[in-house]
Amino acid sequence: MTYQSFNPATGKLLKTFDDLTDAQLETKLAAAAACFETWRHTPYAERAVIIEKAAMLVHDRVEELARTMTLEMGKRIDEARGEVEFSAQILSYYAKNAERFLADTDLNPTTGEGHMESSPIGVVFGVEPWNFPYYQLARVAGPHLMAGNTLVIKHAGCVPQCAIAFEKLLLDAGAPVGLYTNLLISHAQSDRVVDDPRIKGVALTGSVAAGRSIAARAGQNLKPSSMELGGSDAFIVLEDADMEHTIKWAVWGRMYNTGQTCCAAKRFIVVETLADTFIAKFQAALGALKAGDPLDEKTTLGPLSSESALTDILKQVDVAVTHGAKVLIGGKRVDRPGSYMQPTILTDVKPGNPAFRDEFFGPVAMIFRVKDEEEAIALANDSDFGLGGSVFTKDVARGKRVASRIDTGMMFINNISWSDAELPFGGIKNSGYGRELGDMGIQAFVNKKLVRYVVADAPF
Ligand code: NAP
Repeated sequence: MTYQSFNPATGKLLKTFDDLTDAQLETKLAAAAACFETWRHTPYAERAVIIEKAAMLVHDRVEELARTMTLEMGKRIDEARGEVEFSAQILSYYAKNAERFLADTDLNPTTGEGHMESSPIGVVFGVEPWNFPYYQLARVAGPHLMAGNTLVIKHAGCVPQCAIAFEKLLLDAGAPVGLYTNLLISHAQSDRVVDDPRIKGVALTGSVAAGRSIAARAGQNLKPSSMELGGSDAFIVLEDADMEHTIKWAVWGRMYNTGQTCCAAKRFIVVETLADTFIAKFQAALGALKAGDPLDEKTTLGPLSSESALTDILKQVDVAVTHGAKVLIGGKRVDRPGSYMQPTILTDVKPGNPAFRDEFFGPVAMIFRVKDEEEAIALANDSDFGLGGSVFTKDVARGKRVASRIDTGMMFINNISWSDAELPFGGIKNSGYGRELGDMGIQAFVNKKLVRYVVADAPF
């Protein structure tokens, strides 16, 4: 059984769901393909009515949706509400801007005239992770539905109730059957969906392993894909950083969503002259977080998303220690029911330690001391990942220079405001390829067609 909903704050099983039978899956794929034939010709203004209505319903249902998320994957309730509201903004943003983003663009050939048209390609298959159970769905639904495609989505096994709630709100917003379809399917069925000729594109957000598997499958089928994968973002603190400001972002950047964010700050690279002060303040701030019920607004440390997420990261810490890392604080589960982990700081992580190259998807910060800016840049770039990163300095021009030299898809100066509806999101190297959100996000699964008109006779 792929879909089980557990409350990670208590370990209690909430609900289980059967996978679709192959016959049910076939019915849903057929509906998505049939819906495409009318939706592709539906004017933008009519598409926008449904997507804008969906945005409104997300906003209206914020409490219900946030509570479902908190119960199912443990996100602290105030963060859950924030995610729900942000999901509404993303849907609304594409309802308002899709037509402009996909308008014909004129070209200037030396003879005649030409333009580019953007048209939808068909049914797109999305595979999504549990760490942002609605935001991830909004990030594909907003652009790709407004572009005129239809969507079938496989959500993560641990958040079936969020997956079902999102599908329902689109239907409640007036979406025709087949426009947006949640698929409760196994990995083997997912492979068959990628192979299915009615599927014209594949968008995955998830781990590197899932990316390799699904991108390979999409490649075999010559289907376009976008891959939003993991990260191990550097958080660079230069000697002229404003310490109080920096520490607040360091705590937020590592601990938001209990550290389970692809573009969280994971490697803290601090110039030697500030390192002792930074470590003392960071350690004190992390040590002050209190584990509690994620439904309680006063809780500052929520559980990890599942028991297996907790045991996996505890094992990763053990492996890091076996290879020479030192645990400055934490490193263990919190002594209470539920899947809670102590905020953890690792130091002395050297090249050759698996932790040096791995992603810690939870509340584990690695701190590295460096001599100067040059060494900070070199260390930040010594990573298999290339999602985001940040640099803290009072000199903004210097921050921009450093940002330009880091090999990632996103860089932030004196903040880590990761995501806005209008800003492209994505990475390079093992963090994947393609961009979601912004204008770029809607271009991923459209046919960019050249139309040329020339008054000319054929050469022969
Ligand atoms: P995951 O195990 O890769 O799962 C992500 C999704 O892929 C789930 O729906 C999962 O389904 C599915 N999946 C995994 N292997 C599959 C396979 N062989 N065939 C078909 N489906 C498969 O990742 P996760 O642990 O849930 O999420 C955390 C990872 O996602 C982290 O590495 C994080 O950095 C990354 N992430 C990246 C971004 C970004 O925008 N770059 C955003 C959020 C998260 P099941 O649950 O059924 O296995």
